[in-house]
Amino acid sequence: MSARTGVTILGSTGSIGVSTLDVLQRHADRFRVVALTADRDVEGLLRQCLTHEPSVAVMADPQAARRLQDRLLALGRPIEVLAGVAGLERVAAAGETDYVMAAIVGAAGLLPTLAAARAGKRVLLANKEALVMAGPLFVAAVREGGAELLPIDSEHNAIFQCLPAGLSAGEGIVRSGVRRILLTGSGGPFRLTPLERLPEATPDQACAHPNWRMGRKISVDSATMMNKGLEVIEACWLFGATPEQIEVVVHPQSVVHSMVEYRDGSVLAQLGNPDMRVPIAHALAWPQRLDSGAGFVDFARLAALEFQAPDFGRFPCLRLAFAALKAGGTAPAILNAANEVAVRAFLERRIRFTAIAAVVEHVLERVCHHPAGTLARILEDDALARDVAGEWIAARPSEA
Ligand code: NAD
Ligand code: MG
Repeated sequence: MSARTGVTILGSTGSIGVSTLDVLQRHADRFRVVALTADRDVEGLLRQCLTHEPSVAVMADPQAARRLQDRLLALGRPIEVLAGVAGLERVAAAGETDYVMAAIVGAAGLLPTLAAARAGKRVLLANKEALVMAGPLFVAAVREGGAELLPIDSEHNAIFQCLPAGLSAGEGIVRSGVRRILLTGSGGPFRLTPLERLPEATPDQACAHPNWRMGRKISVDSATMMNKGLEVIEACWLFGATPEQIEVVVHPQSVVHSMVEYRDGSVLAQLGNPDMRVPIAHALAWPQRLDSGAGFVDFARLAALEFQAPDFGRFPCLRLAFAALKAGGTAPAILNAANEVAVRAFLERRIRFTAIAAVVEHVLERVCHHPAGTLARILEDDALARDVAGEWIAARPSEA
């Protein structure tokens, strides 16, 4: 009998997925890979299957799943292959799985991550879009399923480490004497770019983050600072905070990953090198600690740590995210959907960088939000927002 903890990685071929496998491999005595999943990268998932030998592999795309199955059969590897959202939900909730790393990018992560929460798993949440879309539903699923929710986003993981131990999802921070959450962000690659040059920014420039290597969608979100906006919403649901209790602080060095200010004037911060293996190892080991493979901060070489107020004029997406959060209901889901469509169009060079915010603003104005209520309602408003965003983009071919 294996006493090792079974880990399923949703989105194992992505940036977070690969970092997670790196940490797991360092601790093969403690963890076993149960399932690996990807969208359609057959070769990438095949390589991971051969190295990490999961029991199950899932591809969201059914044709890709068939190709993976053929390749594994030809190699004589007895790994079960599943397909589609049903397959993702199945491995997220499987009995063999103890921990689920939720690292699919975007709204596609919502249903499998919810399945993990309902099944009472330890959910290591990187997929912030799931929480932005369906915060109350997600927090309820965690509570009702008896799940543990551990944040992987470096800022939220830092905040979690600075909050009193044992505060569970959505519980409310004020009772613990917290005054404010100080959510840090680097300001991305365009923090100092002259504003008149922003319309010409290319996908590669937007993805060249000064401190972090990440997937392309979150890299663009960091360049618009929509990422910070999504993180403000994420923090509200994770920690039971109000928008007024969260302050965004620009910190270009990305060494302080976030801070918590208490009513007596104390501020606790979590520091570390910008390497996602730190929060991943933290969440895997919590409440213990594990070697992550990341280096240690060399304070003698840190020239300075700077902190500034964010520039809402330069980063309209940050303003829009606060507006959606305050509007409540399905407004954050609408914001998120519009942003996903706009970022994809930008990455495919169909719209300019500065049009991302314009798309999101237009969709928030055009699509009425509703009290969040059910998952069906959230998915309906998400779909409507995608349609309206798509129409805006199609109507302006000259934007490219
Ligand atoms: P990525 O693009 O590198 O990887 C995404 C993964 O999701 C891949 O394995 C891909 O195959 C899978 N995927 C994509 N679309 C899918 C679909 N429709 N169905 C099923 N699977 C699908 O992204 P990433 O940078 O690893 O980010 C993953 C999540 O983690 C995002 O929500 C991001 O905001 C969050 N996050 C990432 C970082 C980081 O450093 N990369 C930091 C904090 C939070
Ligand atoms: Mg982050």
